[in-house]
Amino acid sequence: MAQGGWAVQRILLVLLTAFAIFGQSVNHDLGYDDTPMLPGLPFHVHDPQRPHPPVVTPGAQAGGAPSDAIVLFDGKDLSQWQSQGRGSWKVADGYLQVVPGAGDLATKQKFGDVQLHVEWAAPVEIRGNSQNRGNSGIFLQGRYEVQVLDSYQNPTYADGQAGALYGQWPPLANATRKPGEWQSYDIVFEAPKFEAGKLVKPAYATVFLNGVLLHNRQVLMGATVHRQLAQYAAQPAEDSLVLQDHQQPVRYRNIWIRRLAVYDRPEK
Ligand code: MG
Repeated sequence: MAQGGWAVQRILLVLLTAFAIFGQSVNHDLGYDDTPMLPGLPFHVHDPQRPHPPVVTPGAQAGGAPSDAIVLFDGKDLSQWQSQGRGSWKVADGYLQVVPGAGDLATKQKFGDVQLHVEWAAPVEIRGNSQNRGNSGIFLQGRYEVQVLDSYQNPTYADGQAGALYGQWPPLANATRKPGEWQSYDIVFEAPKFEAGKLVKPAYATVFLNGVLLHNRQVLMGATVHRQLAQYAAQPAEDSLVLQDHQQPVRYRNIWIRRLAVYDRPEK
C-alpha cells in the first residue's frame, strides 16, 4: 500500500509539472511583458494586456453585411431614409432607383468615420453623354461626393468620372462595368475635425470600385462644389449619408455602413 501511494504521488507530481510547463507556454502564447514599449503607446510589443478587437462575423458572401454593420438598404424598404426633395425613390425587385426630380435621399442616422459598402448600376438604356449619362453620387456627410456615373466608354472631365472625389481627385483607374451591370463601392471615410469652428484635421477617403483601388487615404480639399474651389466650413461631427438625384434612373442595392471606433489607442 505504501509503495502504491508513492507511485500515485509521483504520477501527480509529473502531471503537475507537465501542467505548469504547459500553462507557462500558453501564457507565452498570450503575450510578453518583458519586451520594449511601443513608441507613443502604453503597450509592450506583444503586450498580453492590450485590448483585443471586437469579434465581427463577416457576411456570408463577398460584399455581404458583417454582424456589426447598420444595413441601410436590404432591397426591401426605405425605412432608414428620408427624401430631401419632393418625392421618394422607387423600390422594386431588391433594388432602389432614382426617380428623376424626386430629390436627394438622406439617411435618418448621422455618421462620422465610417466604412461603407454600396452597389449601383447605371441605366441599361444609354442616354446622354459626359455628366448626363448615369449620374448620381454618394455624398459622405451630405458634403463629400464620390461620383457615380456611367463611365464605360463615356468621356468626361477626369475629376468628374465614376469614382472621382468630384471636382478634386480623379480615380486612380477607370474600373467601371458596362451600363446595367452591378458595381460595388467600398469606401473608408475619415470625417474632418473642427475645434472652435476651425479645421484641425481634413477629411480622408479610401475608395475601391469593383475591388480596384481608386483612392488611397486621399485628403479632401473641402466640401464638394461644381465649377468652384472646394473649401471646408464648420460642420457637425456626424451627418447624413446622401444619395444624389441627378435626374437619371441609377439603381442601388446592398447598402451597409459600419461606424469606425478606435478601441485601443489614444485619440489624436
Ligand atoms: Mg454626381
